[in-house]
Amino acid sequence: MDWNPSVFLRQIDPSAHARILATSGVSPEEMNMSNKDLGADVPQMFFDVAVVGGSYAGLSAAMQLARARRRLLVIDAGQRRNRYAAASHGFLGQDGRAPAEIAAEGKAQLLAYPTVSWLEDTVLQAEKHGNGAGNAEGFVLRTGQGRSVRARRLILALGVVDQLPSIEGLAPRWGRSVFHCPYCHGYELGQGRIGVLGVGDLSLHQALMLPDWGQVTFFTNNGACALDDTQRTQLAARGVTLEPRPIARIVDQATVELADGTRVEMDGLFTASQTRVGSPIAEQLGCAFETGPLGSYIRTDALKETTVPGVFACGDAARAAGNVAFAVGDGAQAGVATHQSLMFR
Ligand SMILES: Cc1cc2nc3c(=O)[nH]c(=O)nc-3n(C[C@H](O)[C@H](O)[C@H](O)COP(=O)(O)OP(=O)(O)OC[C@H]3O[C@@H](n4cnc5c(N)ncnc54)[C@H](O)[C@@H]3O)c2cc1C
Repeated sequence: MDWNPSVFLRQIDPSAHARILATSGVSPEEMNMSNKDLGADVPQMFFDVAVVGGSYAGLSAAMQLARARRRLLVIDAGQRRNRYAAASHGFLGQDGRAPAEIAAEGKAQLLAYPTVSWLEDTVLQAEKHGNGAGNAEGFVLRTGQGRSVRARRLILALGVVDQLPSIEGLAPRWGRSVFHCPYCHGYELGQGRIGVLGVGDLSLHQALMLPDWGQVTFFTNNGACALDDTQRTQLAARGVTLEPRPIARIVDQATVELADGTRVEMDGLFTASQTRVGSPIAEQLGCAFETGPLGSYIRTDALKETTVPGVFACGDAARAAGNVAFAVGDGAQAGVATHQSLMFR
């Protein structure tokens, strides 16, 4: 039988039901919706916290709240940023493990807590709810599968989407032999031949960093990265070889084929992707953004609260550049701060 928390509460404690109804900002019709409206796996319609994004940052945030026995819902569309990579590196205790395994173990540990619910769905709309007289503050989310969720606080752990340079053969090798982060994938190249694909200003930064991980060739790609004399001197001092001819495509594992047909074999390639936050819901809520070298990201204070009170953000979506360790750390901060806001505000 379908369990309806509102009906149950009304039966066992009518005055509590009336009190919640009066302060929740929810209409009697909505309060009487069954939990079917959210899917059979969601036991409650109204949550203390909804976490949007159930990867490393969202899981970490949710864990803090679960351990405080708060009712929370994690909604996740399952598009982790590192899903292209076979192994994740640099996260203490999990170094070299498959990214999906790390996330799956985190999810299993989180779901062991009885106050946690999980939805595989995409939040399409988010808005503030209940500023009117008599209404408690909160937020309403609407999902791609037609669900409607209310929560007193939101945590946005939306991640980012990489917008890759349009070089033929690059996208299928992303995360396998073409990378963006030396700390994540540089060591495994064994101090071998590393190509930097010149696509913009950040490529120079990569070319200057990567000699710590191998012998670097900087493909400046027919002027896509224009270098002045000072920059050339800096690159020479780091032992970087310059290859100015235009890139035609990437072939084999990590071989750069130039427009004149020359093939330059590398062990791995790096390029600077541009990023955007993984969902428009932060904009919908009115969150302010910062602009970093990779793209824009959600502005937060030191406790990971956005410029919209009650909305917290963590992980790649809320920092200039991220990795799994940073996402987990940010998530823990956002989870704790969200919990404190429920108690003391
Ligand atoms: C190819 C590649 C390899 C990498 N390798 C490493 C590595 O080795 N080590 C390392 O530390 N880092 C690595 N990273 C970086 C790492 O992937 C990110 O830093 C990390 O995934 C950030 O975690 P997150 O939780 O903030 O976001 P993500 O892991 O990207 O997760 C965001 C989640 O939110 C969901 N979501 C977004 N919008 C919505 C919505 N509206 N409704 C519901 N769900 C939504 C997404 O579907 C996704 O599941 C790599 C990145 C790439 C691109």
